Amino acid sequence: MTDPEIYPVPADLAARAHMDRAGYEAARIAARETPDAFWAQQARRLDWMSFPTKIKDVSFNKEDFRIRWFEDGVLNASVNCIDRHLPHRRDEVAIIWEGDEPTDSETVTFGQLHERVCRLANVLKANGVQKGDRVTIYLPMIPEAAYAMLACARIGAVHSVIFGGFSPDSIAGRIEDCQSTFVITADEGCRGGKKVPLKANVDKALEKVAGVKTVVVLRHTGTDVPFVEGRDLDWGVETDKASPDCAPEPMKAEDPLFILYTSGSTGKPKGVLHTTGGYLFWASYTHELVFDYRPGEVFWCTADVGWVTGHTYVVYGALANAATTLMFEGVPNYPTVSRFWEVVDKHQVNIFYTAPTALRALMRDGDAPVKASSRQSLRLLGTVGEPINPEAWRWYHEVVGEGRLPIVDTWWQTETGGALISPLPGATDLKPGSATKPLPGVELEIVDAEGAVLTGATEGNLCITDSWPGQMRTVYGDDQRFFETYFSTYPGKYFTGDGCRRDADGYYWITGRVDDVINVSGHRMGTAEVESALVLHDDVAEAAVVGFPHDIKGQGIYAYVTLNKGVEATDDLRKALVAQVREEIGPIAAPDVIQWAPGLPKTRSGKIMRRILRKIAENELGALGDTSTLADPSVVDDLVKNRAA
Ligand code: ATP
Ligand code: MG
Repeated sequence: MTDPEIYPVPADLAARAHMDRAGYEAARIAARETPDAFWAQQARRLDWMSFPTKIKDVSFNKEDFRIRWFEDGVLNASVNCIDRHLPHRRDEVAIIWEGDEPTDSETVTFGQLHERVCRLANVLKANGVQKGDRVTIYLPMIPEAAYAMLACARIGAVHSVIFGGFSPDSIAGRIEDCQSTFVITADEGCRGGKKVPLKANVDKALEKVAGVKTVVVLRHTGTDVPFVEGRDLDWGVETDKASPDCAPEPMKAEDPLFILYTSGSTGKPKGVLHTTGGYLFWASYTHELVFDYRPGEVFWCTADVGWVTGHTYVVYGALANAATTLMFEGVPNYPTVSRFWEVVDKHQVNIFYTAPTALRALMRDGDAPVKASSRQSLRLLGTVGEPINPEAWRWYHEVVGEGRLPIVDTWWQTETGGALISPLPGATDLKPGSATKPLPGVELEIVDAEGAVLTGATEGNLCITDSWPGQMRTVYGDDQRFFETYFSTYPGKYFTGDGCRRDADGYYWITGRVDDVINVSGHRMGTAEVESALVLHDDVAEAAVVGFPHDIKGQGIYAYVTLNKGVEATDDLRKALVAQVREEIGPIAAPDVIQWAPGLPKTRSGKIMRRILRKIAENELGALGDTSTLADPSVVDDLVKNRAA
């Protein structure tokens, strides 16, 4: 790979950021050497009903396995996100909502947020929801989704948010897995000018799974939907009747806050359980540090609340820090591909955080739709979800950010609760494609397949050797699966499942899932690097690379390539792409097969499902596995039909 360029910390940021270089180094050392004192001090950022005296109690070993943070502390997450801001910010905007149509938007103040959350919390209580009960939330990206999450938090119920794009089967599976008895949904959602039949999907799901006693239905689009007598309640009618005050439930720090199912990129989704104190702390701490958030700024994370990114940075982290958080119901390309940037101008967004998949899609349409907007309000950009190809990074930096905005590439997982590896705007020089360095308190190790620790500049499997407050506590209802999945591969360590390279400056580069690592004639290669070399080509929009059995090399490289609009797929182009990879990485990485792919199979959170591509490349068409979290299953049919022989 070409030697990456470095983008130094802008001088003004170095001078006034929450954390500068010296502060970062000091915090790293303090978190490592005096963890109890360090985290106790940091925990003061939350509002506790009873401040914890026990700070950290952790072992990753089988004999005495436990993960506990702030154990005797008592708090309520909704109080931290709402009530404590009321004395100073009652009339300030907590949520800006931008609808699917550019004509629809709305603001919600902290005072209004308080009243609406309390009313809904009282409706839940009146209908028998108790502390610890699981409540399923299936809503579009509207403020009511945040109200529903915070209403659960207020009374100690455990929410399980399901992305509004999921099918009845997926809903039923998730309801069954956590034995949820209560569902909150809406008549319909709107995405890209199309209606999403949320209530109808819930009705179908509830034909397949028993146990749900009550469904609260929000009238969002106002379309007529059937109500099941004795089961379905009208959100508007019920909340109007309810009291606007609801005393918050005192929660122990280790009481569950929510369950969230992972994206399903690698198999059956896992019900990740997060707790009240550690998770909320990590959400708030990282939101402030990573985005260098300052009061009064408008923060826009484009992720849906159905993903962990939406939980942590649209709702909990942002609101705990009294941010103005923007919720967008629509999609980046409706009504036009300028939509993101129009919304930035309309609401004067200061911090913008999105996914590489969205950027790559927008890049296909060129610079003009971006340049049609001002974007002068922006001060920081971020990405999350996948490795960002340096090519996309540079486009984001130069075109969207006009070369003046730092980009925070945040590596984390549903399991980690919040960002773990990320630049800090005032402390970290940037390298395109690298998530850079671990946050204070995050202890990384790269190990080889046998678990031997690799030092210096190296590449291998990414592990975390010690706990951080935002760590998941279990797979819901399956402590055994939790331990086996994350702590048994390399005993005493949390194994992320991701491959990673560390360069001579100590920067971390995620190379993709370890399962996706390709071994060509004994050379191990991450999929991300080969893909980045392919998308460097002007004609290529997106690429996904997998290994397949090869008689001589052990594994060969099979590349699926999506071309830019209007580009013709020719043999010459194929040759040019192979040449480009040879040049960028070396002959060893040259693809053996290139298949033109009009679309790639992605999860609904936008990640490429390489395990399906691998099966197609291996010609194991009967064993494609769980495809229920795919955004568009028809993509797979096309790839199978046009499989390169
Ligand atoms: P499942 O665990 O069900 O297979 P998933 O891993 O896609 O699904 P998430 O928790 O949403 O579910 O995604 C976390 C993964 O996303 C990480 O393990 C990593 O592979 C990838 N990822 C997230 N952010 C980044 C980033 N900034 N750079 C590189 N990879 C990233
Ligand atoms: Mg995962």
